[in-house]
Amino acid sequence: MEAITDKAVYDMHLSVSMEIQLRQINDYLAAAGVDPYAVIMRFYEDGSLPVRSKEAGKAVLKNYRAAALAEAENALRSAAAFCADSGNTLTDHNTAGPARKISRICVEKDALKYPLTGRILEKLGSEGEDPQEIESYKDVFYNKSGYSNETGRRLILAVRRDKLIMEGSGFCQDFGNSNFYYASCAMNCIYDCEYCYLKGMYPSDDLVIFVNIEDYFEKLREMLAGHPVYLCISYDTDLAALEYLTGFISKWNSFAAENNNLTLEVRSKSAAGRLWDNAPLENVIYAFTLSPDIICRMYEKAAPGLSARLSCIKEGLEKGFRVRVCFDPLLAIPDWEEEYGSVIDMLGEEPYRSGLYDLSCGTFRISSAYLKNMRKRFRSSTVCQYPYELKEGAYSYGEELSRRMSAFVKERLKDYFPEDRIYVWNE
Ligand code: SF4
Repeated sequence: MEAITDKAVYDMHLSVSMEIQLRQINDYLAAAGVDPYAVIMRFYEDGSLPVRSKEAGKAVLKNYRAAALAEAENALRSAAAFCADSGNTLTDHNTAGPARKISRICVEKDALKYPLTGRILEKLGSEGEDPQEIESYKDVFYNKSGYSNETGRRLILAVRRDKLIMEGSGFCQDFGNSNFYYASCAMNCIYDCEYCYLKGMYPSDDLVIFVNIEDYFEKLREMLAGHPVYLCISYDTDLAALEYLTGFISKWNSFAAENNNLTLEVRSKSAAGRLWDNAPLENVIYAFTLSPDIICRMYEKAAPGLSARLSCIKEGLEKGFRVRVCFDPLLAIPDWEEEYGSVIDMLGEEPYRSGLYDLSCGTFRISSAYLKNMRKRFRSSTVCQYPYELKEGAYSYGEELSRRMSAFVKERLKDYFPEDRIYVWNE
């Protein structure tokens, strides 16, 4: 692949930045199982290459990108068909595949005095016996030599000392709320979605749980004395997936019940009915990310599948909870219109149609630094290697495709839901 790519770079007279684009296209082809050699050779065979000028080379690169995307789309369509035929390996959580096991447990010395530490270790049974004591989670989390691997990951119980409540990121939908903040009671997620920005943001796959939740509440009480707060508590993890260990959502729910000027968003791909053991509150929104079944199977392998998430939403609605549905990130998979359209049609049924509080969508976007890390780690991931467009430090599908995807989803949602309940990221 290298030799033919070098030749194409030379014969297209590419600048450094365009050469990077070409190499990325080829990495994407390789991840999709297509040999870039065959695609490049077609350009030589039909006389498109070599060219004499940079300008002509730029035009060929554009055509090459389009040809490569079409080739990869065909390959992905076959892979998706295979994935759909092979069926889910259902576990008791109805996931597409099993989550990685805990390979080792580390506990900060300071965390030992918190009751939650004891509760978590007890819940883990024999796995929780004889944890390794550490001074600071940072010594482990940022130490790559002990990196979690494909089959196991470390669990670290720690005390969060700073940045308990942080300002919401510009990459996230604020649903029209000012005073938009988020809290990280845990870092990393057992669901391991292939496109998840956490894989690029953190240097480690270790699952960190902060046991000092009362400190978060104390900080929030100070903030709430000054102004209302819209707080997302499940961004850097899927808190609902950890509820059986931590009971965090239940605690947050109780805190929200006492603080009317706090609105909580709990985002999740979980299908755990225990969420609905809490009291339904007007100021707690349970936000479920939905994806077409094929995305669940290909890229969200350890998360509950589409039907399990829908059943969980249904139960929450029937019990009177405020439920939001998020199509975020929208991925440009083959036949994405049909795939997303069919999920939206499912939401056109009751109780979703009259029960959902609101809905949102947003196309895939990620900071360039995170994606670079992910591309190095996941060479064979098509979602990481896709030749996204770079603008102002972020990678995305580019304005044209992003707008088209968001507009499509919004229009289809409008078949069933009033426009003022539909939020589009960056609209
Ligand atoms: S469920 Fe969310 S937080 Fe968890 S891996 Fe998937 S995208 Fe990341």
